Amino acid sequence: MPYQYDDQNIFAKILRGEIPNQTVLETEHTLAFRDIAPKAPEHILVIPKGPYVALDHFCAEASDAEIVDFHRAVAEICKMIGAGPGDGGDGFRGITNAGENGVQEVPHYHLHILAGRPLGPMLL
Ligand code: AMP
Repeated sequence: MPYQYDDQNIFAKILRGEIPNQTVLETEHTLAFRDIAPKAPEHILVIPKGPYVALDHFCAEASDAEIVDFHRAVAEICKMIGAGPGDGGDGFRGITNAGENGVQEVPHYHLHILAGRPLGPMLL
């Protein structure tokens, strides 16, 4: 079934300015803000401004400019929080949940960036 975007999801409301957020970085196509229930000292959500439900939807339908902008924003955030190993940081984890089995709560694509403490082995 093709993706159907629900424009009443909470991140759509954040993008429209209907509810507040703690912005970390904003670019032409991307917004990054602090997770409301952080699971690590640094817990940032990176979202495209476009109406994409999950990672596969974003990769299939976003423009090259949106995809590049998103990933450059991720790199900038990792640098800003001192987490990027390429910049001498201690490292981070990027996670995205998709759909029912992925236990995705908010149906607007988002990448979690977790950093600031040892994160332990990934749960699988
Ligand atoms: P997921 O389970 O991957 O869909 O994650 C959704 C994330 O959104 C969770 O980590 C929530 O804590 C976070 N979240 C929900 N509402 C807000 C909000 N208003 N501002 C920031 N983060 C939020």
